[in-house]
Amino acid sequence: MSDTATTAPAPQLQAARQALKRYYGYDNFRPMQGDIIQHILNGKDTVVLMPTGGGKSVCFQIPAVVSEGTCVVVSPLIALMKDQVEALKANGIAAAYINSSVGQNEANDIARAATGGYLKLLYVSPEKLLSDGFMQFLTRVNISLFAIDEAHCISSWGHDFRPEYTQLGQLRNHFPSTPIIALTATADRLTKRDIITQLNLREPKVFLSSFDRPNINLNVRPGQDRVGSVIDYIGRHPQDPGIIYCLSRKTCETISAKLLAKGIKAAHYHAGLTPLQRGKAQEAFLQDDVQVIVATIAFGMGIDKSNVRWVMHYNLPKNIEGYYQEIGRAGRDGAPSTAILFYSFADVMQMREMVTKDVPARQAQLNTAKLERMQQFAEAASCRRKILLNYFSETLAEDCGNCDICRNPPTTFDGTLIAQKALSAVFRSREKVAINLLIDILRGMRNQAVLQGGYDQIKTYGAGRDLPYLDWYSYIHQMLNDGLFYIAYEEGYALKITERGHQVLKGELTLPLRKFQPSEKAEKPTRAGKKAASAAASATIGSPEAQLFDKLRKLRKAIADEQGVPPYVVFSDATLQEMAAERPVSRVGMLGVSGVGMKKFETYGEAFIKLILEEGGGAVPSDSDNLFQEPRPRLSLPNKADKTVSDSEDATIQFHQMGLTPEDISERRGLALSTVKTHLYNAYAKGRELRIHDFVSDAELAEIFTARAQLGGDPTLRDLFDHLREKYDYFQLRMAALYHKRLRGQ
Ligand code: ADP
Ligand code: ZN
Repeated sequence: MSDTATTAPAPQLQAARQALKRYYGYDNFRPMQGDIIQHILNGKDTVVLMPTGGGKSVCFQIPAVVSEGTCVVVSPLIALMKDQVEALKANGIAAAYINSSVGQNEANDIARAATGGYLKLLYVSPEKLLSDGFMQFLTRVNISLFAIDEAHCISSWGHDFRPEYTQLGQLRNHFPSTPIIALTATADRLTKRDIITQLNLREPKVFLSSFDRPNINLNVRPGQDRVGSVIDYIGRHPQDPGIIYCLSRKTCETISAKLLAKGIKAAHYHAGLTPLQRGKAQEAFLQDDVQVIVATIAFGMGIDKSNVRWVMHYNLPKNIEGYYQEIGRAGRDGAPSTAILFYSFADVMQMREMVTKDVPARQAQLNTAKLERMQQFAEAASCRRKILLNYFSETLAEDCGNCDICRNPPTTFDGTLIAQKALSAVFRSREKVAINLLIDILRGMRNQAVLQGGYDQIKTYGAGRDLPYLDWYSYIHQMLNDGLFYIAYEEGYALKITERGHQVLKGELTLPLRKFQPSEKAEKPTRAGKKAASAAASATIGSPEAQLFDKLRKLRKAIADEQGVPPYVVFSDATLQEMAAERPVSRVGMLGVSGVGMKKFETYGEAFIKLILEEGGGAVPSDSDNLFQEPRPRLSLPNKADKTVSDSEDATIQFHQMGLTPEDISERRGLALSTVKTHLYNAYAKGRELRIHDFVSDAELAEIFTARAQLGGDPTLRDLFDHLREKYDYFQLRMAALYHKRLRGQ
């Protein structure tokens, strides 16, 4: 487990873990969370750099819960504040916020609650914090910790600079002994430095987590028929909320109108709308009343919606930083999500103009270089996640298995002849044609541009009729990337043949090309891809699990509407997916689901159990559910043969086979430890080969076997447990029982 308690008194960390289970329903800290919490509990200053969705909130909320007093959280986004406070309350944690939207009377009540010690967390906007008398008021509050959220706003280097943030250095002067934690999803060096110096942090420990977001499936698609692709995708994911990012306000509006015309619940969002219109669109999206939001990059900063299942880029982003931040809005709950980038060379050209216009030469150069990295990503022939992480100076040991390239590795063939046709056509048209016209010439089109230029007279006219447009489009881009020609921007984007191109034309060089892959194929996991993707296994459409998931989602929406909170505040998608897979119908079973804490169980447990029962629910009891019986088989689902291992079990087994302990697996998959153990047990019972010695050694197996023999008959697990003086847990005893059964050939 990642949180190696060394210096914090063990009971404190123990309490932190218990709080995580009790209030959030999670069994384990995510990597780093434990260490960060321990550091804070030791009274030290802390800086946390973690990607969106990484789980930053828990890092200060848990210390707030287990410490005496109130944690004051500074957050710049009013909408986000409200969301976080709602989420905390739903988990049974006393929290409130004060900002410009809160009236005086209410603010007074909250202030009284804070000074009375009734609040675990108090969120304030920086303006409020720095306003007259507020610091004075804070001196009367017993403050356990200051948490500065979105701490990058302090840096003038960053994109979200907020002048008020630079005043936050005062906190240290007013409260010299109160620890401060600063959190951000921005990892760059200069921002980090600014955070530390401007907040006057004292020898802070910096926790830099991996920026990988393995649950996001990365895809790039050719930029043809984008609207068709979008509609097709939404048609195949009719329940999944998503965001489409467009370059211009106009595009936002047209796309959203086209989606609406197809009966898709969509809304657009951009800076040209009134605040009221924007608020309405955002609210509808948060509530799941609108499925798709079509927006400029102005959208997303202030939202915390954890169940965004996909993000599309209708146009190429300017740089990888922006792209990564935007796709990061998908899958904050850790459940499988998709990012799709539409790409065409025309986008690069358009973007190049935009990022170099009206800026100083140096800046233009930098922007162009960044755009080129973006282009490389889009045109990559190797694992995309590796390229992304590499950009952020992180290396991934293996290909990710969850991007289009990994799932559908491009195959190459000798493309010399194809390349020669294209090069020859360029040559014979005297290097005056741009890509689209070149394709028209090759395919023997009789349009105006072709006829006007007299290109129907050249020898290579129609020489590429056998290939469809999209194939040519792909091959010509590959040739460009390979440096066979370049684009003369100043000459209407005409293609010019390079030295290398001439070599290919003369047959001195051969050229491997990648087969053009139609886009839908890339979404279907290959065998290898499936392995990685199922680590965050999602149910296949139409399966009983998916059907139940849909019903759970509907129930969640109904409850959320009734209570006036966003659906994801009730339960996250990840939690509902686990419910759909495990079908818990008991208190213990329900509490075993990751994301179901005590408070949520009390509030919603019954309704969800009732629904699962109605749907023919009933799951394997978890270890502690009924300690003394061997698990009864899962109520068989209609299309699942008894011998087959469920997707979720399969994912667990794969991690086991990679050498992970049940604790590691539980942490990696965000599942209860008991669930993981049940998976292992079930798979072993169904005849899967497991490394049983990871759980019980030979000597231990022998000891258990002897005990069984000594007891005689068919002793219950309880008898064995007692007889062996509680040396082994029930999981070990069950696994041993299966092992012996197998030995006996049963
Ligand atoms: P961030 O602020 O870094 O963007 P959040 O704090 O909103 O991320 O966390 C993202 C999601 O992960 C939330 O749904 C949160 O409840 C969940 N989460 C956080 N910590 C854990 C954990 N230890 N186990 C399972 N889920 C977690
Ligand atoms: Zn990959």
